[in-house]
Amino acid sequence: MAKQLQAIRGMNDILPDQTPVWRYLEDTVRCLLECYGYQELRVPIVEFTSLFARGIGEHTDVVEKEMYTFSDRNNESLTLRPEATAGCVRAGIQHGLFFNQIQRLWTMGPMFRYEKPQKGRYRQFHQLSVETYGMVGPDIDAELILMTAAFWRNLGLTDQVTLEVNTLGSVEARANYRNGLTDYLKAHEEGLDEDSKRRMTTNPLRVLDSKNEATQHILEDAPLLHDYLDEESRIQFEQLRAILDHARVEYVVNQKLVRGLDYYNKTVFEWVTDSLGSQGTVCGGGRYDGLVEQLGSKAVPACGFAMGIERLVLLLETLNLVPDTVNTPIDAIIIPVGNVQPYAMTIAEQLRASSAKPCVLMSCGGGTLKRQMKRADKSGAALAFIIGEDEVEKGLVTVKYLREEKAQQALSLEGAITLLATV
Ligand code: ATP
Ligand code: MG
Repeated sequence: MAKQLQAIRGMNDILPDQTPVWRYLEDTVRCLLECYGYQELRVPIVEFTSLFARGIGEHTDVVEKEMYTFSDRNNESLTLRPEATAGCVRAGIQHGLFFNQIQRLWTMGPMFRYEKPQKGRYRQFHQLSVETYGMVGPDIDAELILMTAAFWRNLGLTDQVTLEVNTLGSVEARANYRNGLTDYLKAHEEGLDEDSKRRMTTNPLRVLDSKNEATQHILEDAPLLHDYLDEESRIQFEQLRAILDHARVEYVVNQKLVRGLDYYNKTVFEWVTDSLGSQGTVCGGGRYDGLVEQLGSKAVPACGFAMGIERLVLLLETLNLVPDTVNTPIDAIIIPVGNVQPYAMTIAEQLRASSAKPCVLMSCGGGTLKRQMKRADKSGAALAFIIGEDEVEKGLVTVKYLREEKAQQALSLEGAITLLATV
């Protein structure tokens, strides 16, 4: 027997009983983004590989080992996007969106990373990416954080997530810290895990993220990022904190929070949860003031974040926070008996077009009245509209109440429309 067809490992189907939760989440988020005046930008899923290498940084995990890269028929090296920011910056430069302008943008869709699939970590996953350009902060940094806090409020997740904030300082301060940290790590090299030894020279700040216990122990006495901060970053961080304090958004300052991608500076933040095991970060972001220039245009200040949709869906499901209303109920099912499809299907169209916009299902595929009534019951519809030759002749429909003890009745089209407006 032929081997059964399978999806690629780590790339999931989202089945019909799951899509309502996704849409609930996406709609909630979209609605809030509109309240804050953000506009949607859609960028391609594939870009030239060089964009990500230049944008994200050669020595990041993403670029070193997680990208889906291939040659197209013209031998161009292309990559399935592992994140959306590089593509948004490319689009903004290409279409002149940054020239003397402020932009508040968002995009949502699939990202691709070659990672070890596990709960909350997949090879195709979805992100909401929010990006702002042309504002130096800290007001916009705070706006983004306040907006994420509003997401959690609207989704009932406030008690489940904790905010961590940090500042990485200016590019220069960060470079100085990098040197200080590298010197310290070199002096303690023999105690470090293999990954950290390698990162010590390529991307030392990432060593701070190491989950290795021996490495974490060594890090206890490592130089602190905040001792290297420039005055401007320090003041900006204070101002950000003042806004968060005034809005009563709780947070923890975590000096070891550096984020995985190279392009961050100044403000960085993450929202983490304890409810998902080790895949606990549901949202992460910060400033990337150097990125636009790094990708070849005049420097433009920027700040943004990315939210992992799968992890939030998991969280909503685990905590039973999905409202019943996410499923669209079927109001009525039309049951044609005999050769009455032309009449029955036109009635269905007229019912759906009525002002209450009811959900009307047509019992297609034929069958006896008994079989069709079973189908009606299974559909969950509140009402069945039975249409036989007698009904066609009189211009009526016979209404049967499927979920209530109520006698059936004959109604005109207008009567049926009125009834549907009340279910
Ligand atoms: P992690 O430390 O979990 O690998 P990251 O720093 O690589 O996260 P970002 O690049 O900041 O993640 O992406 C933002 C968010 O996207 C993450 O906080 C997470 O919610 C989600 N995310 C990242 N990688 C994956 C993945 N492979 N599968 C599912 N969600 C992911
Ligand atoms: Mg990662």
